[in-house]
Amino acid sequence: MPSASGWQSDKEDPVLASASSARIGLLLGLLLLAGCGQPADPARHRQFFALGTLVEVTYYGIGSDVAEQASQELEQMFLRMHAEWHAWQPGRLQDTNRRLATGDAFPADPELLPLFEKANRLSILSDGLFNPTIGKLVSIWGFHSDERPAGPPPDNSALTALVSQQPSVTDVAINDGYLRSSNPAVRYDLGAVAKGHAIDQGIGRLRELGIHNAIINAGGDLRAIGRHGDRPWRIGIRDPRGPGVLAAIELGDDESVFTSGDYERFFDHGGRRYHHIIDPRTGYPADTVTSVTVVHTDATTADAAATALFVAGPEHWHAIARRMGIRYVLMIDANGTVHMNPAMQKRISFDTEPADIRLSTPL
Ligand code: AMP
Ligand code: MG
Repeated sequence: MPSASGWQSDKEDPVLASASSARIGLLLGLLLLAGCGQPADPARHRQFFALGTLVEVTYYGIGSDVAEQASQELEQMFLRMHAEWHAWQPGRLQDTNRRLATGDAFPADPELLPLFEKANRLSILSDGLFNPTIGKLVSIWGFHSDERPAGPPPDNSALTALVSQQPSVTDVAINDGYLRSSNPAVRYDLGAVAKGHAIDQGIGRLRELGIHNAIINAGGDLRAIGRHGDRPWRIGIRDPRGPGVLAAIELGDDESVFTSGDYERFFDHGGRRYHHIIDPRTGYPADTVTSVTVVHTDATTADAAATALFVAGPEHWHAIARRMGIRYVLMIDANGTVHMNPAMQKRISFDTEPADIRLSTPL
């Protein structure tokens, strides 16, 4: 575990220093603490824009050519996935949504089918708090756009009407590769889980290429495999209310760290912040939490769980985390109180010890 003073020296690390000076530090919610203050970091770093964000891939123990080739492959793979899985641009997901609205059975897109199956399972485990079928709600809020939404918030009556249609993954039958929706309100939005799925696929590809020590970090959400030489990978968790880092964590051989935060996509209107994580029960942005970080082996599960626990909030996250098989949770609520389970507390070290920490019972 890095101590607070160890963390200070990490700030001098060239990777972190260049990251903050180049605005990258703002984009990467979770910062890679690469070199322990050593001037020459033996890890190799590659960056590109894909999945709607800056992706940083870090490698240890491979040559420059291999790193370059792997990064180019990942970039192409992620660009293609992002285009195809957009809920609001022509592509496989939009086609699927159009056909789901008809109520007829149709053959599922083979690339998307495993993701639908997994997202549906995760949604059920989350008690519907992670609900990938609320595309209509996300759209009416204006978060179905690459532009930053400007508001104003939608009419309450329009939101109530959409919520009352109760779209759910249980409305979608998947049989022998065919999809059919019994609820015309179902529209898939994979925004809460697609990045995780893409990172899982990316890690799979790196392993096929013989790369076993790497991190794929997409805008602060990441999966790490192997180690940084003779020590574990170590990363920083972004402070949801400041430019810096809240805490540091060392990762095991294969772990994903995903954060859902109200600072990622939002607009301010009438003195209030409206952000992109919607409570499917109310139609409004979930308002009890500012950020949730979870650690889990599988990036897709971690991604869905961070969103679900954000909606669950400080009173109800524990039961949902348990059901989703999550063992490490860090949540900052709207008052700045830090909620954690004891296993998470043992693993992380805060830059500045929070004034108010609430420990849950073990998960
Ligand atoms: P994340 O940043 O992973 O928490 O995902 C947020 C994105 O998922 C939003 O931009 C929406 O596209 C979508 N979304 C919002 N609320 C939910 C929800 N309750 N369940 C599933 N997806 C959601
Ligand atoms: Mg998510």
